[in-house]
Amino acid sequence: MLQVKGLSKSFDGFKAVNNANLDVQKGEIVAVIGPNGAGKTTLFNLITGIIKPDSGSVIFKGEDIIGLPPYEICRKRISRSFQIVNIFPRLTVFENTQIAVLARFKKTWDLFTPSKKIAVEETEEILKSVGLFDKKDRVTGLLSHGDRKILEIAMALGGNPEFLILDEPTAGMAPEETSKCIELIKSLSEKFGITILFCEHDMEIVFGIANRIMVMVRGSTIIQGTCDEVRCNQAVQDAYLGGSDVCLM
Ligand code: ADP
Ligand code: MG
Repeated sequence: MLQVKGLSKSFDGFKAVNNANLDVQKGEIVAVIGPNGAGKTTLFNLITGIIKPDSGSVIFKGEDIIGLPPYEICRKRISRSFQIVNIFPRLTVFENTQIAVLARFKKTWDLFTPSKKIAVEETEEILKSVGLFDKKDRVTGLLSHGDRKILEIAMALGGNPEFLILDEPTAGMAPEETSKCIELIKSLSEKFGITILFCEHDMEIVFGIANRIMVMVRGSTIIQGTCDEVRCNQAVQDAYLGGSDVCLM
């Protein structure tokens, strides 16, 4: 479904992403792992058109999407959440999600219909699927950190994605929030057939839900493989454990 080949991006001569390669098959859950500063967020920014690469290609369902602006990439049904939460803090949970749904309908404004009545069913369905329906009238600035991260996933679902990119979805969550989020990610894959690419520091989560893993170090892909292939790979050991013989997980 997605093929990233030889993708590179420098900032003032610093190679944040340096020949990254990745492939994601339809229906898979693929994790990108790597130390802080490895280039994971930059890779996601390149795939979603937020920044332009210096070289390389991103093929989505057979089409090169490099150079397209983020809104066009979104219309191809690629959605994402951000490492740092991006929501409208003074609007409610319902309104935040509704905006995302309306953007897809190209109906971000309508002079004659009261906004409360547009896309209500679809917005409520999304909130039910992520478990935020009972909090739909809460102002989002007052939500817990975990609920705000889940709301961001709800907003990404507003774009009706086939391909969902999650940048550290459980970062900063309390343990109960983390388990709910993991269940949510699994259900998006299993119930709705959404293909998922995510990055995450917690190896238990990564090995628990990913079908395959890509490892990035200093901007470059050092391996992409199954959990077993990655677990005991020497280059991964060197990057994570300073060359010790202990397998990850
Ligand atoms: P990760 O998400 O794996 O922690 P990032 O992709 O955020 O890593 O960052 C990779 C490297 O690129 C870091 O050293 C970061 O400081 C640098 N970087 C990212 N974005 C920019 C930018 N816009 N300008 C300059 N340096 C950047
Ligand atoms: Mg990051």
